[in-house]
Amino acid sequence: MKILVINTGSSSIKYELFDRQNNVRPASGLVEKIGEKTGIITHQAVLPEGNPVKIVEKGIIQDHHEGMNRIVDFITGSKCGVISDTRAISAVGHRVVHGGELFNSTTIIDQNVIAAIKKNIPLAPLHNPANLTGIEISKSIFPDALQVAVFDTAFHQTIPPDAFIYALPYSMYKKNRVRKYGFHGISHAYVCERGASYLKRTVSQMNFITIHLGNGASMAAVKKGKCIDTTMGMTPLAGLVMGTRSGDIDPAILVFMADHLKMSYKEIDLLLNKKSGLKGLCGTNDMREVIEKKNQGDEKAEIALKIYTYRIKKYIGAFFAALGTLDGVIFTAGIGENSPFVRALCCRGLEGLGIKIDHDKNISSSKKEREISPSGSKVKVLVIPTDEELKIAIETEKIIESYT
Ligand code: ADP
Repeated sequence: MKILVINTGSSSIKYELFDRQNNVRPASGLVEKIGEKTGIITHQAVLPEGNPVKIVEKGIIQDHHEGMNRIVDFITGSKCGVISDTRAISAVGHRVVHGGELFNSTTIIDQNVIAAIKKNIPLAPLHNPANLTGIEISKSIFPDALQVAVFDTAFHQTIPPDAFIYALPYSMYKKNRVRKYGFHGISHAYVCERGASYLKRTVSQMNFITIHLGNGASMAAVKKGKCIDTTMGMTPLAGLVMGTRSGDIDPAILVFMADHLKMSYKEIDLLLNKKSGLKGLCGTNDMREVIEKKNQGDEKAEIALKIYTYRIKKYIGAFFAALGTLDGVIFTAGIGENSPFVRALCCRGLEGLGIKIDHDKNISSSKKEREISPSGSKVKVLVIPTDEELKIAIETEKIIESYT
């Protein structure tokens, strides 16, 4: 079965083709800067005879429709095609950011599902419209393929009300759907499964704290395979310090910004989402640069790293309490997978909770799933590379098999 996984953003389409029968991933790529003068397509493929190719094309890509047509040209074309035509694709798996309370699992897309994703636009005004565009275009280009939605919020739908309802007037939850939803669910779910498998267990036997540290960052408390709390909230702004997002702050600071600094709500939104986090603290949102600056004696970078890792440590404690017992802590995504320094700072001083890191294991560079706690530790500390595209492909395959 061939499955195309698509992640459509407001000006981009990320894609990957999976051949599940042969367990290979013949093509992948990214269309960027759609609608701008400087559009870029980066396409990588392994041709049927085994040769790898990489193509980068620059120039205007008018809209998402053109972007998707260019992807199809690449994967079916005479130059670097890996399938004969679009009918070879059985299903298209779409990453959909916000399923709200309507979706707690992967679903086959029909008119009702499209209407429901539309209903959730107020909760994800930037992401859901782009995801819908991807779905509509994909339906027209792959009319014979089943369209499947895999939601970033679905994994968090098992969080109980005491953890997801804010202490605001209850009507705001009931009428306006103001509550914690959580994001990065595809990644948290994937690394839990891989972590359990690495430890030769099933997720239903394990209590994990998962720590996804990319440009966006979030943590989840996962009890026997079910998420019971997460750091992001109604939007992806809450929780951890991120590349450019503040994470948790006193909500009255927004009133202060409006009243005393005379900022408009758009300026406040921009400041919290784009000008805060690591970037706001020390001028760059790239963790490699932050660490480099700190190594050169930059005080702001040093304090930024302390604030960043302290927040994570605090949530490890909170989620340990929420879980009751803990079997493993899992680091993932760009920073979690690649920075021994950040991992060590997050876990420093947690020996009393049974959370320890083995220095040599932590610094040894590897792209593989691995344990970095001393052997025999009660709480295993793992590094598990995330793979959201693979998780979407697996979910898509599962639902199609149960459907047909
Ligand atoms: P995205 O959320 O965009 O998918 P990634 O998961 O790719 O982000 O993570 C990007 C972050 O990972 C950046 O802050 C980058 O600096 C950081 N990163 C990547 N490699 C390293 C490394 N070796 N050490 C520290 N940080 C790293």
